[in-house]
Amino acid sequence: MQKRGFLCSTRIPDKIMENNMSVEECWFVYGFKFLNLYIGFLKYHSIGSAAEVDFDWEKVLASKNLIGWCHSHPDHFEVASGTDHKTMRSWVRTLEKSLICCIKCKTTIKGHVCYIFRRNKKTIENQKVKSILIHNLLICQHLTQL
Ligand SMILES: [Zn+2]
Repeated sequence: MQKRGFLCSTRIPDKIMENNMSVEECWFVYGFKFLNLYIGFLKYHSIGSAAEVDFDWEKVLASKNLIGWCHSHPDHFEVASGTDHKTMRSWVRTLEKSLICCIKCKTTIKGHVCYIFRRNKKTIENQKVKSILIHNLLICQHLTQL
């Protein structure tokens, strides 16, 4: 059984859940940062429920090459949820580095959105960034060097 460490979208009403067979999925993103680019590969696929997905946090602590996560929001919500923000802020503080939060969402033209969460003095800030996702290759570009 996986340890709890979920990212999830806002609560989907029961009526929508009953009619929807889609579930959230999650991948670790492993890679590196070069100037203002984050280049990574999606790995360790996990499947959750309609509104949340777990990942194995022991894998997070065991890897120095983790640069973030990608997870899906099956129906709506192309923005990071409150739980996503909370999860990302916690991991940025724990790992003491900037992290990518990529959200696969069918309602966007390119099929996903990406944020970079980073520490700025005592707060954790996030910014939507330019990105491409081709199969399991993810490249994010921040406007300024982080
Ligand atoms: Zn989410």
